[in-house]
Formats: sequence, C-alpha cells, structure tokens
Amino acid sequence: ATPMAVIAGTGRAAELGILVRDADALQRASSIDTLVFDKTGTLTKGIPEVVAIETWQGASEQQVLGWAAALEKGSSHPLAQAILRRAEGMTLPQVNSFRQAGGLGVSGNIAGHSLMLGNEDFLLQADIAIDDVADQLRTQAEGGATPVILAADGEVIALFALRDPLRNESQPALARLHQQGYQLIMLTGDNAVTAAAVALEAGIDRVIAGVRPEGKAVAIRELQQQGHQVAMIGDGINDAPALAQAELGIAIGGGSDIAVESAGMTLMRPHPGCVVDALALSRATLRNMQ
Ligand code: ADP
Ligand code: MG
Repeated sequence: ATPMAVIAGTGRAAELGILVRDADALQRASSIDTLVFDKTGTLTKGIPEVVAIETWQGASEQQVLGWAAALEKGSSHPLAQAILRRAEGMTLPQVNSFRQAGGLGVSGNIAGHSLMLGNEDFLLQADIAIDDVADQLRTQAEGGATPVILAADGEVIALFALRDPLRNESQPALARLHQQGYQLIMLTGDNAVTAAAVALEAGIDRVIAGVRPEGKAVAIRELQQQGHQVAMIGDGINDAPALAQAELGIAIGGGSDIAVESAGMTLMRPHPGCVVDALALSRATLRNMQ
C-alpha cells in the first residue's frame, strides 16, 4: 500500500503546481545529488530571437533571410521558428529536396542552389570550410548567442545569431539549489561556447554541450556510473529518454507530451523555482515516513 506520507506529499505537491505521476518518484528524489538541466526551453525561455545577420559573397540580408526562412519552414525547431518570425511578411521561395538532420540543421535546393543551414558540425560534415567566419562565430557564441550558418553551393554566405534569454527565475532558483549542495549540470545540443556563456549567467557548475538527441540519456547514465543520483529537468522530445533514465525525471509542463509521459513529476508552471519545491517536498515526504 502507498504510505500515508506519500499520499500527503502528492497532495501537497499538487497545491504547489507539481504533478506527481509516479509515487515512487517522491521517495527516489530524496537521495538525488546531481541536477541536470536541459538548456533550451528549461533554463531559457525557449523563444530565441535573431539578433544579428552577417553576409558574405555579396549576398544581401533579404536574400539570405528569405532562403533561410524557406528552409526552416520544414522544421519545428525553436531556432527555425525564430528565423521564420524574422522573415514574416516575406514571400518565400520554393524548396526542393528538403532534409532535416536532427541536432545539426536543415538542407534543400532553392533556385538551383544547394543550401545548408545549421551548426558548425553540420557544415564540417559536408566538408564546407568555415575558417573565414570562425571569428564571427566565436564572438557571437561568447556573447551567449547561438550561431546558425547558411552555405550555398559549398560556401558560407551568411551567419544568423540567435539569442534565447534565460527565464527570469532560473538564476535565483539555481542559486538556492547550489546553496543546498546540489551539483548543477547543463545538458544541451548547442555548441560548447554558447552553452558556457549561458551557464555562467545562470550559475551552472558544469556544462555538457554538443550532445546529439540520442546522447542525452547516455550522458545521464555516465553520471550514474560515476556514483551520482541524478534528477533530469527538461521539456523537449529530445529529453524524454534522459528523463526516463534519471532516478527522477522532472518535465516542464507546456513542453512536449512525450517528455511529460517519461517523467516522474511535471511542473505545471514553466518555472525552475518549482524544482526547489519539488526536491524540498520529496525530502520532507521521506522524513515523514521515518
Ligand atoms: P537543443 O534542443 O539543446 O538546442 P538540438 O539537438 O535541438 O539541441 O539542436 C542542436 C543544434 O543543432 C542547435 O543549437 C543548432 O545549432 C542546430 N540545429 C538543429 N536544428 C536546427 C534547425 N532547424 N535550424 C538550424 N540549426 C539547427
Ligand atoms: Mg529544451
């Protein structure tokens, strides 16, 4: 039978806006020492904005934006949505042979040109040299923006810098969790330089960046093999296997349904401060059982 303390804890959790799907989760949560946060949509608002566009090879801003937006029409990634918002009102050209590479970018043909739009790894895999734009890439990333590169017929023609601001509550919530002795880790598919800048602003101890979608659960398993008890906090489809792998998965409500189904708890408000409440509640629940 479910102990009274767990029933009471589950009820109290609901009052705090925390849905406990798995009663065992409340008990498991009390031995956690490491908190792993997804970056995009969890620590950040998940609504990036295009903050800079640079062009090369004589391309105009209008042209590269039109091409990039046309490619991103086929993607539901938050970065894609940001580029589409920036191009609102423009007539977009037709794309042929569209392809999406998870955690890398999108590609396709427009007006006879072969286009690729994505991160450094995506272009390097296609043997496209990015040396000429390396300085601009680094500058944008060091400022906490995510650089997205557009190449046409094997040459870089534009760089889009996208900034996704931290949620207002992230920094104070992480400060409290840090004070309580938790190791705080950020896990992201974004590049290491951008991730480090965001981590510094948020107050994260350690960054695991450049993680492909299928790598998030592996990263959690490695921490567990090192002897850590891990809670994973995330919102995306990408996060679902990692949420299931962790001792405790905490999904951010309003994110993907698959994330919610994979997690032991769901925060009804997209507020990292609720993680503080969830962990405090689970410790209290365990105390009440002893
Ligand atoms: P996360 O959800 O942690 O941002 P993803 O695995 O979704 O990680 O994406 C990792 C990186 O891949 C992004 O930061 C971006 O550089 C690149 N990327 C993925 N999808 C797209 C896209 N549709 N357009 C441009 N870049 C993309
Ligand atoms: Mg996310």
